Amino acid sequence: MSTQAQMQTDTAVLVNISSEKWPPRQRTYFGSLTVSSPQPGEAFAITPIHGCLGVMDLGDKRTLEYRITAREIAEDLAREINGDSGEGSYHGVFVAAGEAPTESELAEARRRLEEFQRRLVAAADLEWERTKNPMFITDLERRAARQLSLEKPWLYDARPLADCPVCAEKIKHGVAVCRSCGAILDREKAAQYGLVAAEEKDSPRTRRSHTEKREPEPAGK
Ligand SMILES: [Zn+2]
Repeated sequence: MSTQAQMQTDTAVLVNISSEKWPPRQRTYFGSLTVSSPQPGEAFAITPIHGCLGVMDLGDKRTLEYRITAREIAEDLAREINGDSGEGSYHGVFVAAGEAPTESELAEARRRLEEFQRRLVAAADLEWERTKNPMFITDLERRAARQLSLEKPWLYDARPLADCPVCAEKIKHGVAVCRSCGAILDREKAAQYGLVAAEEKDSPRTRRSHTEKREPEPAGK
């Protein structure tokens, strides 16, 4: 069997139980590869990995080709993704021993993922106790709490303030009206709460005529 043919048959199964989406992985020997994530309702997703030929630069225009097995590549990708969040982090990616993940492999991955998520939640709880500031809670910690279906006071009001496009003051996301300059930032929402007349949702033309009609009436009428 030629080296090329051997590589075609050399595959490994990278399994992912997390619904997170990972940016594509880049390697010189295979280019770019996206690790699949399970769709809603699926327990896991599989990304088949193939063996590759790496090229080592020996200098003086000499190169050395070497084989990288599918398993080596898959283990490397799993390590990279799992280690993404520091010491002891785990994101639910592993290499199956066979052609498909076994129940015990999946159970072990779920156990490790939950353990990591509980650690994140515990860290967030401590941080919250100390600061009561949602700014110090990371997206990763929030996601962990949601995935464990835990109700936490630090789950909300996550995003930093935005800038009002009119007066550039700091405002909360999703507000209908700027507290500082009174600009209507979400017309539909503002109308819903009676902050603007409902007909102001119409086209700019009717809106203008409506505004004109609202000009102060002569006194004494
Ligand atoms: Zn404003």
